[in-house]
Amino acid sequence: MDFTYTYTKQQESFRKEVQTWLKENIPENMRDPVDPDDFTEEQYLWWQEMHKELAAKGWLYPTYPKQYGGGGLTAEHEAILQEEFERARVNTRGPSSNNILGALVVWCNEEQKQKFLVPLLKAEKASWQKFTEPKSGSDLASYQTRAVRDGDDWIITGSNVFVSRRGYKPDYLWGPAVTDQEAPRHRNLGFFMIPCPSPGLDIKPLNLIQGKDQHFVFLDNVRVPGDHLIGGDHQGWQVVSSVLEEEHGGAGRAYPEDSVTENLVSYMREHRQKGESPGGDPVVQQAALEAYIAARIDRVFKLRTHWMYGNKVEMSWEGPSGFHYQRLYGFRNVARVRDVMGMYALLGTKDPRTPHEGAQEVNQRTSFIHQHGAGSFNITKVVLARRIGISRTKERAAPTRMSASSKSG
Ligand SMILES: Cc1cc2nc3c(=O)[nH]c(=O)nc-3n(C[C@H](O)[C@H](O)[C@H](O)COP(=O)(O)OP(=O)(O)OC[C@H]3O[C@@H](n4cnc5c(N)ncnc54)[C@H](O)[C@@H]3O)c2cc1C
Repeated sequence: MDFTYTYTKQQESFRKEVQTWLKENIPENMRDPVDPDDFTEEQYLWWQEMHKELAAKGWLYPTYPKQYGGGGLTAEHEAILQEEFERARVNTRGPSSNNILGALVVWCNEEQKQKFLVPLLKAEKASWQKFTEPKSGSDLASYQTRAVRDGDDWIITGSNVFVSRRGYKPDYLWGPAVTDQEAPRHRNLGFFMIPCPSPGLDIKPLNLIQGKDQHFVFLDNVRVPGDHLIGGDHQGWQVVSSVLEEEHGGAGRAYPEDSVTENLVSYMREHRQKGESPGGDPVVQQAALEAYIAARIDRVFKLRTHWMYGNKVEMSWEGPSGFHYQRLYGFRNVARVRDVMGMYALLGTKDPRTPHEGAQEVNQRTSFIHQHGAGSFNITKVVLARRIGISRTKERAAPTRMSASSKSG
């Protein structure tokens, strides 16, 4: 099987169109800073409008159906867009994560698609993922937040930690809540789009070493309209699973470049100490090669999964194994970068001696945290064990917008 993307003449002319558009429309001062924490308020506001423009062109969520505000484009178009955006340091972190968008395609009725999916795909509204509770992170099924019926509405009370998104203020927080105290685990949850702001809803910043993207969320008897329940009132776990399927690697990535390793290799090509390349030292050379090979393996994992996802091929272990490998090698590569670059890897963005404008220091600081977001390192192994049948329970991949559409024809 060859899962390298090759492009037709038409696709290459699409690439030219994207390059020209980026040159003409994205000024240098609006491009991604090396340290995401340096993103300014002015940039956020500018991008808020630009994301709407990108969505209208079909370039923000390229492979989502046109009828709901997506681009209706192919996986190859998406790969070209990702490549060109990444090269141009363009902010593609739209107002919502793709994980919820796919789950909404699977679980919303038509009316809800118009209400929630369309404005999110058009970047007119923003949403944040509200899953983790102070006592329920890895074991999400032990959720404490409660939703109690009140006429047609639901009244929700609970609290969350680590809720992330940069820049955008949310119009919705989405996540599960216990709708039936008597029902067994996995059958006791509903899944809600909680409107923001709402009386009783409070969001407070939670600063981590990587920056200021995380938040605490407190809900004290927040009233949520009945049509904001996605799926049935006992189907919340299934909706959560569709979100996690994509979050845990199930959609792959069309353009999985690794700038950390690219920078490491170019540092070794360009840097000289007493006239010698660092690669002249066999130990340093070995460390760099381990990093390079791991990055290449990660690329193959992600491309393959993206190809399977785009072609609606049924998956099982592929997403979580790629996701697990990404974390494993990412974690190991930060140490290899330190082995090769020494203290240069720790010089921040403001230090004039820092190579690559401080990109390695940002990675050194954030990589530890990235092992935990979207479920910890051990949990991806637990998911993988269930998929390949070496756990107490065996599980299949949850439906995604691709696998669900292949089943319905
Ligand atoms: C940068 C960042 C961004 C995040 N963004 C969001 C977000 O937007 N929305 C959101 O809802 N949450 C978010 N999270 C939270 C994240 O999903 C949780 O941190 C994660 O699910 C782990 O939960 P926990 O922190 O409660 O750790 P715990 O579940 O308490 O785990 C603690 C340790 O025990 C281990 N462990 C637990 N259970 C098992 C088991 N069965 N087998 C083996 N080991 C186990 C874990 O691996 C971990 O090392 C984010 C976290 C970070 C760090």
